[in-house]
Amino acid sequence: MSLLVDQTLKREIDGLKRSGLYRTLRKIAGPVDTQVSIDGRDVILLSSNNYLGLTNHPRLKEAAAWAVNKYGAGACASRLIAGNMEIHEELEKRIARFKGYQAAIIFSTGYMANIGLISSLATKGDLILSDELNHASIIDGCKLSDAEVKVYPHNDIEGLRRLLSQRNPRSSQGGSKKTIIVTDGIFSMDGDIAPLPEILQVAKEYDSIVIIDDAHATGVLGENGRGTLEHFSLEDENLIQVGTFSKALGSLGGFVAGPQLVVDYVRNKARGFIYSTALPPSVCAASIAAIDTVEKEPLIRKRLWENVTRFRRGLINMGYDTVGSQTQIIPVMIKDTHLTMEFAKGILKKGIYAPGIRPPTVPEGTSRIRATLMASHTDEQIKMALAVFESEGQRLGII
Ligand code: PMP
Repeated sequence: MSLLVDQTLKREIDGLKRSGLYRTLRKIAGPVDTQVSIDGRDVILLSSNNYLGLTNHPRLKEAAAWAVNKYGAGACASRLIAGNMEIHEELEKRIARFKGYQAAIIFSTGYMANIGLISSLATKGDLILSDELNHASIIDGCKLSDAEVKVYPHNDIEGLRRLLSQRNPRSSQGGSKKTIIVTDGIFSMDGDIAPLPEILQVAKEYDSIVIIDDAHATGVLGENGRGTLEHFSLEDENLIQVGTFSKALGSLGGFVAGPQLVVDYVRNKARGFIYSTALPPSVCAASIAAIDTVEKEPLIRKRLWENVTRFRRGLINMGYDTVGSQTQIIPVMIKDTHLTMEFAKGILKKGIYAPGIRPPTVPEGTSRIRATLMASHTDEQIKMALAVFESEGQRLGII
């Protein structure tokens, strides 16, 4: 590399280090479970998205092993060329049925599903209204589209309504241009839930399409784990859902579920679907087994919610601010970036791994520890985690 490039990159990295934003990797030995070895230290893991513990469930492991033996290790072509295997179609039917839709299309990751859906659906002249705390993949999907993008304040229905009412009438009702409202179901850093009934109501008033990213809600929210829509006892066949198999479903891959027409459109337009190799069959088999497990073993979800309630209540009783968390994602607000990273280091030394989250992942001044609960955490593990949060918070003068 030229000296100039070298110096520019180094300056950038030094800047990140000075502001406490330089990122490094931690190495996990063995499977991702409630107890893991990180950088050689045994710790309780309080930061996995394996919310139901399914990644180590025998049903998923057996399904993946069966599929490797039957189909081999990869699909080795995109779906539209020579990579469309029966197991891909089976997974699409399975996730569509689970979510209560006509159809679904799978992507390699949830990130790609959001980018693929949003950038293909929203075209020139369209308007996207996006919650300010939406996930990076939604933001990137918006950037890649040719639509106008407006960000509304977090979960603020009046703010959303204001933006909708300012819309140029020529590019809305009666015209051919679309208005799209996009929101996370469970917000990935705050753990609160989008007010979906109100969003759907406003969308109806303004003839808008709604996309919900149910990455963190799938398998977790609702009587049967179907997600945010079920949580609110709603049905809406026009709502478009994005999701991932990589969190509560313990595997990998993203999906878009919705009306057949939307799925047909995305299959023809989304570049991340068209130009990327299909998921390996073993991953699809594990995802199918995960949906089966969510349906057959509701007690796992019940256990998750018991753990969530216990842990959050414990933190609040100690005086921590868990912001608006209603779910398995529990932010512990520290605010200052350096103090947050100090806290994360301190609890790691005491045997708890929950990372510090800082800008640009969250807005300036809102750095926090992000704890996530799993159904498989034991009472003992939760008790120990709470004790560590208490002693570290006292040491740093946070509580
Ligand atoms: N949406 C949300 C809300 C997420 O939190 C994530 C993952 N962090 C994604 C999409 C992307 O999913 P995946 O990890 O499968 O790419």
